[in-house]
Amino acid sequence: AKQRGRNLYQFYTKDLNSQTYRHLVLENQLVKALARDEFDIHYQPQVSLRTGKVEALEALVRWHHPEKGLLSPAHFIPIAEDTGIIEGLGLWVLKRVCEDMHRLREADIEPPRMAINLSARQFRQAKLVERYAAILKEHDISPHRIELELTESTIMQDIHVAVDMFRQLHQLGFRLAVDDFGTGYSSLNNLKHFPIHTLKIDRSFVSDTPHDRDDTAIVTAIVAMAKGLGLEVVAEGVENEEQLAFLKQLDCEFIQGYYFSKPLPFSELCEYLKAFSYS
Ligand code: C2E
Ligand code: CA
Ligand code: CA
Ligand code: CA
Repeated sequence: AKQRGRNLYQFYTKDLNSQTYRHLVLENQLVKALARDEFDIHYQPQVSLRTGKVEALEALVRWHHPEKGLLSPAHFIPIAEDTGIIEGLGLWVLKRVCEDMHRLREADIEPPRMAINLSARQFRQAKLVERYAAILKEHDISPHRIELELTESTIMQDIHVAVDMFRQLHQLGFRLAVDDFGTGYSSLNNLKHFPIHTLKIDRSFVSDTPHDRDDTAIVTAIVAMAKGLGLEVVAEGVENEEQLAFLKQLDCEFIQGYYFSKPLPFSELCEYLKAFSYS
């Protein structure tokens, strides 16, 4: 038994020194981060090639970690998802977005539509619809101004739940987008049951256009399909002139990516929007 105890002890110390331990520390800090006001939102423009305007902004959460500095969501969204912290964080994001829309107005800028990400766990939250509706009401913002982004895989996890949620959200007036489109193996046949406004083509397909033959064919097909279904299409991860020219030629209306801008902190957003022009 003694031997076994020692082995167990070794097992735990080894483990605690490694990933699990770091994970636990981060989880602990994440629990406190909301109360400590350590989250922030950066906004990335979606530009319409038709109107030449910033028609929407995607809200992307950031964590100002007390020691590690600015953390991108890849470092904490999965933990927030596992622990359920994402539910509170998600409500915070919507509130902050509403507040920022009012702050834009105060700066004499008509706020573009706002796009917000929802993860699988949030989507399954029992009171999501009710809570979202209450927040918008409280801030006097119309749901038409908000587009909720769900990945294809979130939708496909439980298609019956998803259809029901989409109907409820749609009925309230929210716009709905399928994020990372092309990565989740959904068939058109599935998607036609959903009241969707927008398809967002995943960056992994856009990155190598127009040089990679397969990706070019895929993007071409998605844009044609979206148009056929009367949906808006956003190409994500557009970084250069060549990609832009290719997408323009396909008549893909909406462009999001570093070519126009990285996600911006609110402090830089006003200036960006005031100075923006594209034709
Ligand atoms: P996403 O929804 O697919 O967001 C797009 C990601 O691509 C963002 O990463 C953005 O900064 C990045 N990106 C945009 N344009 C370019 C480009 O031209 N080149 C490159 N290399 N990257 C580009 P970010 O901000 O790190 O967010 C990562 C993911 O975290 C998001 O992917 C989304 O799934 C999740 N996320 C972000 N904010 C939230 C949130 O408030 N709630 C939830 N549930 N998830 C969030
Ligand atoms: Ca997104
Ligand atoms: Ca995406
Ligand atoms: Ca993604």
